[in-house]
Amino acid sequence: DRKFFVGGNWKCTGTTEEVKKIVSTLNDAQVPSSDVVEVVVSPPYVFLPLVKSSLRPDFHVAAQNCWVKKGGAFTGEVSAEMLVNLGIPWVILGHSERRSLLNESNEFVGDKVAYALSQGLKVIACVGETLEQREAGSTMEVVAAQTKAIAARVSNWADVVLAYEPVWAIGTGKVASPAQAQEASPNFVHFELRKWLHSNTSPEVAATTRIIYGGSVNGANCKELAAKPDVDGFLVGGASLKPEFIDIIKSAE
Ligand code: 13P
Repeated sequence: DRKFFVGGNWKCTGTTEEVKKIVSTLNDAQVPSSDVVEVVVSPPYVFLPLVKSSLRPDFHVAAQNCWVKKGGAFTGEVSAEMLVNLGIPWVILGHSERRSLLNESNEFVGDKVAYALSQGLKVIACVGETLEQREAGSTMEVVAAQTKAIAARVSNWADVVLAYEPVWAIGTGKVASPAQAQEASPNFVHFELRKWLHSNTSPEVAATTRIIYGGSVNGANCKELAAKPDVDGFLVGGASLKPEFIDIIKSAE
């Protein structure tokens, strides 16, 4: 049984005033109980203490990244230990924007996931193919290689949520709809990813690991996506900054 998971990735946006406004909207919202849905929002590093201290206790906070190993002489980086020290329970790793813009390789992301877990963080690990890769027919090959680099370094899958975010669907409004061919729908990849986990980790990991979908999720398309058997929640970008994030949380039930 996999508890529905809704993450809000605020990316590199926001001012103190805007952050306070989002937090107050979330704090006032009527949503299903935390037995039904796990809600995690991910502000930029600098806002983590503010959000952590002002957000309702049934919602949790994630960092958007952390350093690959123990902190030290790594100017500009933030270590997993620091996040633990601040009481931040979650971290997003391997987001496609970091893979593509900052050249994070599959192995580097795998190392980050392993180190973060070793320090007691829970990890939202992101995978996903580009449009070019999809059109070349290599979607599963790409996603499996990304997942393999994580699986090779990780044994405690209980603290990992796998986020499938096709790059072509991020911020484009081009969410793969259930009406599209099976091949193009996110559930197809979710189903294949779960099969991959079954063969390459264990049947238990495959059955219990949440595979969430990210890419142009909004208040209007979330219900239909949430109904898919292998979609266990969402990682939301743009819409997580708006009141419709509440509707996305409600799609859990
Ligand atoms: P959008 O919801 O804005 O498409 O972003 C998705 C994403 O990258 C979440 O991590």
